[in-house]
Amino acid sequence: MPIKTDAAIVFEVNQPMVIDQVELDPPGEGEVLVELKAAGLCHTDLGIWEGHSPIGANLPVVLGHEGAGIVLETGPGVTDLKPGDHVITFAPECQVCGACHSTKGNFCESVLAGYGSEPSISADKNRVFAGYGLGTFANHLVTTSSRLVSVRKDAPFDQISYLSCGATTGLGAALVEAKVEAGSSVIVFGLGGIGLNIIQGARIAGARMIIGVDINEDRGAMAVRLGATHFVNPRNHGDNIVGHLIELTGGGADYTFEAVGHIRLMEQALASARIGWGVCTIVGVAPNGEKLGVLPFDLIMGRKLQGTAMGGVRGKSQLPEFVDWLMEGRFDLKSLITARLPLSKINEGYDVMRRGEGMRSIITF
Ligand SMILES: [Zn+2]
Ligand SMILES: [Zn+2]
Repeated sequence: MPIKTDAAIVFEVNQPMVIDQVELDPPGEGEVLVELKAAGLCHTDLGIWEGHSPIGANLPVVLGHEGAGIVLETGPGVTDLKPGDHVITFAPECQVCGACHSTKGNFCESVLAGYGSEPSISADKNRVFAGYGLGTFANHLVTTSSRLVSVRKDAPFDQISYLSCGATTGLGAALVEAKVEAGSSVIVFGLGGIGLNIIQGARIAGARMIIGVDINEDRGAMAVRLGATHFVNPRNHGDNIVGHLIELTGGGADYTFEAVGHIRLMEQALASARIGWGVCTIVGVAPNGEKLGVLPFDLIMGRKLQGTAMGGVRGKSQLPEFVDWLMEGRFDLKSLITARLPLSKINEGYDVMRRGEGMRSIITF
């Protein structure tokens, strides 16, 4: 029997999402039915919705990849989840492929096999696609067990749904991908929902100097609350922002991060990494087709350039520890959740993001 559920559907690029009832196929082999309790509004969804993300999606689509909820039913072959489990959606970790068996990276081979969107929802006899194979902007979803992480039941759904992507991407970029060291210097370009979590990750790692860069003074103040030792507003430094940062760090930072998805900021992040060993990590998703201009000499001089998705974090095997840290108060997500909305208000939630207001909006069901 198909499962009826309400979902926010994108029928056309850049047109408001439409709340409508869709029918989910029951969980098949290796699949799980989840009742969602919270879903975060991530900037990546906006890029796909507006049609300029390199990730892309088939239309019509139910977007949303940040989600937390309760397992209602498992299909045949699912051994690690059972009804009643609390779960977070995350990038797949099948735990059987070559990539999952390797100790390197967090790209399960099922991602490479096609991770854009998969048909798993039907509405009005027309197929509706589930973005990222998930589609968390709905009361229920059916997805593979590899995309679900079982977590402790005392963790609040709204906060763990933020760990489903944004918060983990930031924390992981600092702690897992770049491996920021105690006593090091760090610069973070862009103090949005991801950048502020890079700041928190750098603070947990014990970085000595953590510089947040943004044109928004309120976000700068939040960065300082969360562990930044300095806030720099580029508007106060004209064309010399890189020169100012190099001076402030005494020759460039050990670790720099770009968390906006803006090519010019990526170039500034690379240029403000220290000659000899500075590592620049690209976290923001730039519009499809845009290219980063890199001077080979910058690399010859020992700067390193790398990128990361989901902060290099593996869902099933690493995310439960992040939830423990959240519950131990080692980082703060509560202050970053600035709005809670019903699914029916999702378009208004994204209007807030487009205006650059607030930090993280969460749909609660
Ligand atoms: Zn795998
Ligand atoms: Zn996201």
